[in-house]
Amino acid sequence: MTDIQPFCHLYVHIPFCRHKCGYCDFNAYAGMDRLMPDYVDALKQELVSARERFPFQQLETVYLGGGTPSLLPPALVSNLLAFIRSTFDVAPDAEVTLEANPASTDAEKIPAWLEGGVNRLSLGVQGFDPRALAVLERKTDAAQATRAFALARDLGLQNISVDLIYAVPYQSNATWIDTLGRAIALGPDHVSTYCLSFEEGTLLFRRRAEGRVPEVETDLQWDQLDAACVELEAAGFRRYEVSNWARDGFESRHNQAYWRCRPVYGAGAGAHTYATDGSRAWRWWNVARPREYIGSAPSPRAGGEELDPRKTMAESLMLGLRTAEGLVAPAGFENELAQLRREGLIERLDERIVPTRRGMDLHNQIALAVL
Ligand code: SF4
Repeated sequence: MTDIQPFCHLYVHIPFCRHKCGYCDFNAYAGMDRLMPDYVDALKQELVSARERFPFQQLETVYLGGGTPSLLPPALVSNLLAFIRSTFDVAPDAEVTLEANPASTDAEKIPAWLEGGVNRLSLGVQGFDPRALAVLERKTDAAQATRAFALARDLGLQNISVDLIYAVPYQSNATWIDTLGRAIALGPDHVSTYCLSFEEGTLLFRRRAEGRVPEVETDLQWDQLDAACVELEAAGFRRYEVSNWARDGFESRHNQAYWRCRPVYGAGAGAHTYATDGSRAWRWWNVARPREYIGSAPSPRAGGEELDPRKTMAESLMLGLRTAEGLVAPAGFENELAQLRREGLIERLDERIVPTRRGMDLHNQIALAVL
């Protein structure tokens, strides 16, 4: 791996959660809070080693994701963010995001996050309807989400995103529209909506297999996606990616780095790194379990792969076509792109190709065609 482009984006994974939600297949663990101080120490070791081994330029984004980063004691978050600032050159206007659960967002933590330089909060609301939250096994409720959002705003966070999940069993279209309305009423700058998926190995997957949770009809999924488009666009949000809406200027810079195939260094348990020399690309990932991660610091790499130039280009095409801005059509995919145009999934806009509304809704068909 020679001549890789410098990293300007840093992802840091915090794998701790209060409780494992029934639908979740993220690398997240409940009941391991006592490992937090050692985990942060291991993160620091990995970051120092990464800075010595790989080229980094000024960081444009830092993203603390999880898991539940808001579960970390505020002093550990401040300490970790100060360490990142002293180890890397973080741009003065860098976007620094922290993912938070409403239940662990409080008046003690938010000032510590702000002091550490957090300027964007991604609040995992997921829903307001008690029945949908119960199916998801979320241990938060509408009142907590509303309180956490208001507190974050009052204490000075000027860029707040909320996550919502649709196509939840028992969630009617009317309940989903009510959920969208309540999310919009909070006054967020960015909204992410995810279609609930039943991932093997999760409690929800087992429950559905046992017939204890019903299927969600495909028509209802489409209706709910359509309702999100209508309600969010009417409220002034622009759908700039398959699952993401933003007010102008509040698009997630960190996630745009992934969709534009920029190098992103991922630190922490199970984190993935993407590196490229502009032609080939490399992806590698760390050991997943927190205890093993701590034991393996500062070299937690568990596996990796090299992508040849064709595969690298195919991935950038697939990811670029997740976004409204699209990308300049790469050479070598003329047949695939002609087919996608015939199917009404993409269109040409000056020098760029962009997904149509249908292409955004059916992005998996774009992915199948180009990968
Ligand atoms: S809080 Fe998020 S990461 Fe943690 S278990 Fe629930 S869905 Fe997964």
